[in-house]
Amino acid sequence: MEKYSLGTACAEPGTTAFGHVPVVNRPDGTMIKLPVIVVHGTQPGPTLVVGACCHGDEHEGTMSVIRLGQTLDPKKLKGTFIGVPVINVPAFHNMRRGNPYDLYILDMNRIFPGRPDGFLTERIAHVYFDQIISRADLVIDLHCGANILVLTEHVCYERPESLELAKAVGGTWDILWKGAPFGSGTTMGGCARYGIPAIGLEVGGAGGRFDHFEESIGKMVHGITNVMKHYGMLEGTPDVPEKYTVVDLLQMPCNYGGIVVPEPDFALRKRVKAGDKLMRIIDFFGRELEEIRAPFDAVVTGRRVYPVVHAGEWVVFLGRETEE
Ligand SMILES: [Zn+2]
Repeated sequence: MEKYSLGTACAEPGTTAFGHVPVVNRPDGTMIKLPVIVVHGTQPGPTLVVGACCHGDEHEGTMSVIRLGQTLDPKKLKGTFIGVPVINVPAFHNMRRGNPYDLYILDMNRIFPGRPDGFLTERIAHVYFDQIISRADLVIDLHCGANILVLTEHVCYERPESLELAKAVGGTWDILWKGAPFGSGTTMGGCARYGIPAIGLEVGGAGGRFDHFEESIGKMVHGITNVMKHYGMLEGTPDVPEKYTVVDLLQMPCNYGGIVVPEPDFALRKRVKAGDKLMRIIDFFGRELEEIRAPFDAVVTGRRVYPVVHAGEWVVFLGRETEE
């Protein structure tokens, strides 16, 4: 095994190294840099890249990458773990989904693999893919419900070659979302161009302000550890669910601005029937503007927790079962 260099991080076999990959300078001359954690094993094995916070208000993933960097023992590792705690650095600084310093606010998870001559977000995305993702055998992209939503744990995958990776997450991650409706610009879409299996993990949200924050981090770390066991990077047998539910996901918007009021029995992971009332949108005088009803039989995978909503924003996520 040779030493492993990535940006300013240089890890001898059996060690962990921290460093940065430079992207471009800010107006004040300081650099935008991608932070990297390299846990380099003592024996050959896959290179796993785990990236977080391409949406700047999604911190479960950031904390999970930090946790793995602290707890993975490089002396017991085969292959190399590369953790990127924050990909969209300007968005993270501003505690927002997107980077406000673009001429247009771009959603980074719609423009991968970026462009070297594009807007700032595209340049950051390009460096992430060109210098980090391109080294990977496996990629895991970490997300959550951001500031305004809370999600139950589910694995996203887009292509058949990523299904083994999706199932390897195991634990309580028994809902698999097949195919994101966002075109080819997601992390998974970008990885497909490189032929690298890639998945997304979604759990938690609400800006990390509630008690489920720590629980969500634990679920992410557990799932990523399972993946590393499945692919032989760590000793041990991963725990996997007895069955998986594969779903198409509907991210339902509301048609009226107002205040969101869930029904008393509304709950994540609940199985609902077509026509079931899930939420109401009300105005300042308590009048109901809109009923949010399930358009089909589904499992509830997410909900808006921020009470104020604009027309067209997502209020509930429903997974329609396609296969077991
Ligand atoms: Zn996200």
